[in-house]
Amino acid sequence: MSKTVDDTGDETDQPIGWDGQTLQEMLATSEELLEETDRYYGTETLELKDEDPFTYEQMFARVRGALVNARETALHVSASPIVREIGELSFQLYTPEGDCIAPSTGIIVHVHTGSLAIKYMIEEDYEHERGINPGDIFCNNDNELGNVHTTDVHTIVPIFHDGELVAWADGVTHEVDIGGMTRGHDQVASTSRYEDGLYATCEKIGDDDELYQDWKDRAQRAVRTPMYWDLDEKCRLSGCHMLRTAVEDMIDDVGVEQFKQFSREAIEEGRITLEERVKERLFPGTYRDASFMPVPFEEAGWKPTSQQNMLNHLPVEMEVFADGSLSVDMEGASPPGPHPYNSAAGSMQGGLWVSLTQCLLHDGKVNDGSYFAVDTNFPEGSVVNPQDPSRSYHTSWGSIMPSYNAVWKNLSRGFFARGFREEVVTGYSETGDTLQGGGQFDATEEYFPVGPFDLSCQGLGASAVRDGLDHGYAMWNPEADMGDIEEWEIVEWGLPYLGRELKPNTAGHGKYRGGAGWGALRVVAGASDVSLSKHVRPGVSFSTSGLHGGYPQATNYSVRAHETDLHDRFDDREQYPTGDRLPEDLDENIDGDIVRTERGLYFPTTFDEGDLVYYHMGGGPGYGDPLERSVERVVADVEEDIYTPDVVERVYGVVGEFDEASRTFDLDEEGTEQSKAEIRERRETESQPASEFWETERERIQDGDVSDPVTWMYSGVLDQSEEWGAQFREFWDLPAEFDME
Ligand code: MN
Repeated sequence: MSKTVDDTGDETDQPIGWDGQTLQEMLATSEELLEETDRYYGTETLELKDEDPFTYEQMFARVRGALVNARETALHVSASPIVREIGELSFQLYTPEGDCIAPSTGIIVHVHTGSLAIKYMIEEDYEHERGINPGDIFCNNDNELGNVHTTDVHTIVPIFHDGELVAWADGVTHEVDIGGMTRGHDQVASTSRYEDGLYATCEKIGDDDELYQDWKDRAQRAVRTPMYWDLDEKCRLSGCHMLRTAVEDMIDDVGVEQFKQFSREAIEEGRITLEERVKERLFPGTYRDASFMPVPFEEAGWKPTSQQNMLNHLPVEMEVFADGSLSVDMEGASPPGPHPYNSAAGSMQGGLWVSLTQCLLHDGKVNDGSYFAVDTNFPEGSVVNPQDPSRSYHTSWGSIMPSYNAVWKNLSRGFFARGFREEVVTGYSETGDTLQGGGQFDATEEYFPVGPFDLSCQGLGASAVRDGLDHGYAMWNPEADMGDIEEWEIVEWGLPYLGRELKPNTAGHGKYRGGAGWGALRVVAGASDVSLSKHVRPGVSFSTSGLHGGYPQATNYSVRAHETDLHDRFDDREQYPTGDRLPEDLDENIDGDIVRTERGLYFPTTFDEGDLVYYHMGGGPGYGDPLERSVERVVADVEEDIYTPDVVERVYGVVGEFDEASRTFDLDEEGTEQSKAEIRERRETESQPASEFWETERERIQDGDVSDPVTWMYSGVLDQSEEWGAQFREFWDLPAEFDME
């Protein structure tokens, strides 16, 4: 609300929406028009675009340019390498109703989360209750209201022209630390909101372009890394202000009416574009897949409530309609739980965004129009839409990433059926595979955080015509960059790297293989009070399976070494682990208490001087039968260290002599032919008809002959969803009263 002086000289509350409307009126009109016409704001024709396409395109390019410019410039304000080096930030421009006109590059998962936060402020009538004025600054990281996970923080700034709110600017950064129960930015131990850390609930944190001192003090004292927090906040705010200036300049040039018209047309164009892409690229039909997220916390969990072996069910049914509409339905998802993987519906929408911009909408001209074009169901009260602020949402990626592996497979089947084989992507490695924590650096007696974002370079899945990208992909940030080792060491003072190398045998096998992952070895040096956790999909299951006969990527495990003789080795000038052939060289080159688990995950653990920690990144899943992979490619795989000779013999039937020194693989053609024939024969004798498999599995289900996590999963889902339960019982031909206890 802006105060103006009326004819009688009294102060009066003037609505800040367009043409004398309040924001609530504008939002209601927008929703009604969409409902009535199926078009954004009832926009029947793109008048500006049709009549003056050059001006329209120029305006889009200018907005997009301003967003990218804000991002590329503002990130230099930040000191956090997560933001500055890897670019874990993005900016978005919204209509007054909170609909995204255009995003910058970067973590565009946030396009729709910012939208939800703005809509919340409108619905809660901030216009009249709190005031929305030029120069105001708002902050949100409350996940149910519009945020992906707690560590992502939004700064939102209204943009006014002549007393009217013309747009909103939103900037997001991923923080090094948010003051949660343990060190790190994606917690593993958190079981509820009350352990998640600092929350801002669409809070007004400043006016007249200045942050409130109260807010600054509260945040500074709430996080472990106040300097990074402070500079990240300045980064978000300066980017929003750059964006505001760009919009003001644009309005000066084209006039406010044209800007308004452009905003709406751009979103409607986004909606139309998505429908056209769906029509063009996907074959109509119903596509189903499912992902699973193991939460094996029985032994690891810190709180009694979390000490159970859970398994989240993340089914995805998609319908592609001939008219270009698309639906995503996760009916049958598990209930929320006492773990950090709960994901708000807005975060799931964000995942859809990131996926569609990479699979279907390649030209960068995307916005909330594509949100309006897709019909989604993230069931209320499930792990993908808990509607319960008391849950922990710290690591919602633990639900988003597996779910979208299922989405990608569905889309890929749609591409394949339409003939777009090159668009097929079997999925990706999940990027949880990393290290977090912190400690005290002895030389300065200061706290240093550990949260290397080199995790943003994993293996991408194969397509139906080529191998996946090696160690260069992250689902959530298409501009993946692992950053120089030195960048991480500048921040993570007490944990230098001993080595970082490509990791063989991580890529999923197939006619086209997945991209390979990599591993790193680090050492605690000159530091005390060091606590580290490793947070990765536990290696007891994989979330995606490869396509058309391709294999999943390798599962995960953990290795660390405590009480080592590293310093003695330094003194005696003996060999120490350097990261070559990790983690095997730990066996040969270090003595100590070496802890290996197949979990891939451990809760915060104390590390002392000279202790070693190993972490590795996953590969992508494969496509097609490995026996159909060309032998030349397999030879190259061995020579390039993607696979080891024993593995290619077992999986691809490729036999030969490998010379380690020259890295050449001498193919034994006869042996290879014979070995492939043997594998084919073994398949014939060992395989069984699907009907037999169904019979055997049905018996197991009826007898309850399944593992505890599987029982946990199905009993939760059968309680949660009648609809899904009915389908399940029908498929397995089970009585209506069947339940799993
Ligand atoms: Mn984040």
